[in-house]
Amino acid sequence: MAGCDVGVFGLGVMGEAFALNLESRGLRVAVYNRTPERVDRFMHDRAGGRSIEGYRDVKGFVSSLKRPRIVVLFVKAGSPVDEAFASLVSAGLERGDIVADCGNSHYRDSDRRMAVMAMRGIRFLGVGVSGGAEGALRGPSMMFGGDFSAYVEAENLVGRAAASFEGSRCTSYFGEGGAGHFVKIVHNGIEYAILQGLAEAYDYLKRGLGMGALEAARVFEEWGRGELRSFLVEATAAVLRHRDPESGNPLVEMIVDEAEQKGTGIWAVEATHELGAAAPTICEAVQHRILSGARSLRDRVSAAREAALGGEELQPEIVGEALLGAVILSYVQGAALLEAGSRRYRLRVSEAFRVWRAGCIIRSRIVEEIYQSLSTGLQDPVAQILLERGDRLEALAASLASFVSSAARIGVPTPAASSALAYLLALRSARLPANVIQAVRDYFGAHGFRLYGREGYHHSDWGRGTG
Ligand code: NDP
Repeated sequence: MAGCDVGVFGLGVMGEAFALNLESRGLRVAVYNRTPERVDRFMHDRAGGRSIEGYRDVKGFVSSLKRPRIVVLFVKAGSPVDEAFASLVSAGLERGDIVADCGNSHYRDSDRRMAVMAMRGIRFLGVGVSGGAEGALRGPSMMFGGDFSAYVEAENLVGRAAASFEGSRCTSYFGEGGAGHFVKIVHNGIEYAILQGLAEAYDYLKRGLGMGALEAARVFEEWGRGELRSFLVEATAAVLRHRDPESGNPLVEMIVDEAEQKGTGIWAVEATHELGAAAPTICEAVQHRILSGARSLRDRVSAAREAALGGEELQPEIVGEALLGAVILSYVQGAALLEAGSRRYRLRVSEAFRVWRAGCIIRSRIVEEIYQSLSTGLQDPVAQILLERGDRLEALAASLASFVSSAARIGVPTPAASSALAYLLALRSARLPANVIQAVRDYFGAHGFRLYGREGYHHSDWGRGTG
């Protein structure tokens, strides 16, 4: 009997949590997983006594759904998504049905999938979902892209599971195909940049000011009560407080210092290049995750030399201000990437900040404030964010400069703070030295340059021909 409102395909960490969330909002949910033992385990352990039907075969799963069917996919990005689509289609998905890919797919794949599904009359949605397992269970932030009519219908049901901020659901539609996944990639890029900023602030408190994990946790807690109020600052404080139950030592100090990644950060970097948007702090954060993994090179070089140059140590307040500057500028760079993406997807930057106010990993007081700035609907969001905060950023630039130089003398790398500072200094320089780059490019490659006050492109022989 087709009595279920929505189907969840994929019972990994996210799918399980999201199925329970949907059911808790009054929906009858069908679940399916490629490996049937996972369905059995879920039905036995977490879904018992709830309005959830478990299916070991995909045909039964599809038949259990009311028409038009809505299937939410939570499978690994890449070929598993195509394989899941193929199995749904062969199991009887029909014209008008909706498939919402809620994994971290690349936006280009979602562009393609929307077109492929449309040929079969199946309506595709690519949905960026943020909030981790906890968010999926209690209310994530959801960034929809794809078929608009499908969005209207699916959001009405699936959107009930989303987080809300002051009564407004953290869901939005960003455009066709991969628009929602594009916004999620930008979200993840910002997340990478902020995590790098948090890590280097901790590094300075530890190596520069000699703080233990508990003392550093207190500093983060203090920061989390002010302008830096955010999920990630709170999470960092909680992590620093946590002790290994076996040894009683701070667990964080026992963790191997090599940052891993699943690829969305690299996609964000690629997007900056593809779309011509500058987001250096996001790029640096990705580079430094890679660098952290260069274990044998790091070991060899650090064994030979890990000497500090010495210098004045800063108060934690200055470190916090520098972190605030790096975090604000990471959001600005994310906004710049969204703005560049709006030429591809016609998305609105302000809507991204609206849905990021709750449920997602980068939710923060700064996101709320940026949304307030942008909700007036002005034309140039990045300039708007920067200009409204002109005086504040000027003060934070001073803290960033103190932090970056003090950290360098102590031997602490600060890629997030350094790149954020350079970004701000570049934006507020009336003249940049790019003229020299243009001149030298012309010197060796005759690439040409434009001149102030004269039309067109020019060359010089730089004194080699006529001189
Ligand atoms: P898990 O690794 O916990 O689960 C992966 C799921 O994918 C399993 O159900 C697995 O089924 C299924 N799968 C893998 N390959 C195939 C295939 N070829 N055909 C059908 N099903 C397949 O992943 P998560 O739940 O963590 O993540 C799911 C998606 O959500 C990913 O795209 C992830 O990037 C995204 N995401 C994850 C977040 C997180 O915090 N974990 C946050 C936001 C998004 P089987 O049991 O048969 O192997």
